[in-house]
Amino acid sequence: MNDRDATERGSTSGRRCLITGVTGQDGAYLSRFLLAKGYEVWGTYVQGVETDTPRLDALGVTEKVNLVPLDLTDTAQIRAAIESARPHEIYNFAAQSNVAVAFKRPVYTGDVTALGAARILDAVHDIDPSIRFYQASSSEMFGGASSEPFDEDSSFRPRSPYATAKVYAHWTTVNYREAHGMFTVSGICFNHESPLRPPEFVTRKISLAVARIKLGLAEELSLGNVSARRDWGHAREYVEGMWLALQQDEPMDYVFATGEAHSVEEFAEEAFAVAGLDVERRLRIDPSLMRPTDVDVSLGNPARAAERLGWTAATRFHGLVREMVEADIGLLSGGARGEAIYAAER
Ligand code: GDP
Repeated sequence: MNDRDATERGSTSGRRCLITGVTGQDGAYLSRFLLAKGYEVWGTYVQGVETDTPRLDALGVTEKVNLVPLDLTDTAQIRAAIESARPHEIYNFAAQSNVAVAFKRPVYTGDVTALGAARILDAVHDIDPSIRFYQASSSEMFGGASSEPFDEDSSFRPRSPYATAKVYAHWTTVNYREAHGMFTVSGICFNHESPLRPPEFVTRKISLAVARIKLGLAEELSLGNVSARRDWGHAREYVEGMWLALQQDEPMDYVFATGEAHSVEEFAEEAFAVAGLDVERRLRIDPSLMRPTDVDVSLGNPARAAERLGWTAATRFHGLVREMVEADIGLLSGGARGEAIYAAER
């Protein structure tokens, strides 16, 4: 990765960004990354719901981020946030991003995840169309319809209300670029994980359970569809790709992925192995954890990001599993910083 394009555009010091959903995993990593570049970071959270900032706390950046309340269903709040922050760049991470929850709350998921992006783009168009906009698009949009790696030209076949909402947001982002000449980028990220990943996602569910079992706090781990395959990378690296995408001369869409897929079962086996535990005795399959429809295989081709941005996912599967399991063992063994993350997520 290099900062050549940003350097050509001038120093990043004094630039302002607005990150929606700043309290999430990607918001925390991007905040730290942009603060280190000298950005003034503004971030939004949902008032009354997100009362804690465990991930920003864990990275030591909470005090440096200007926090503003924002509900993506509220047009007036969106406009007020943009007018307060006067950003050069907006990263739209806010979403109802839990796939299982999306099946239970499809209309709300669409209101936040699909229409929320449209509300921001409409506000940017009215307030200052020179603001550069990054939309957090998702590999869920492809729907695993093929075992071939997906790239920016692959067709979408969404298989959940979350994915259908993300497809709407993706095309709306593309349309503002084509119809209004705005600098908008849709970054299609394959699964990206870290010790800051919420435990509703399978990787963190596994790493936390393995840590609990290792420390004698639990007996076993229950999972649903363990044959599902995912292209798992490290979130810390993916946010760097997102930033690079906004520093280019021309806006275009990018896939961010490792190019390697592993099954949920392999993730569990590797996690138990890192902790020196026997997976056979500890893993249970619970059919109630299976989804109405699931994505069987999710694999990305990050060639464009590599060629144009010089971006590659450096952390591979084994390193990711090890980092997450070791972090959770440290966390549950009493690290004060880790406790804060865990307590907020239970
Ligand atoms: P997703 O790819 O965005 O849906 O990320 P998740 O981490 O939530 O799920 C990844 C895969 O793990 C999906 O195919 C799930 O069906 C599968 N899976 C199997 N057992 C579980 C479980 O207990 N929890 C979750 N979240 N996913 C599970």
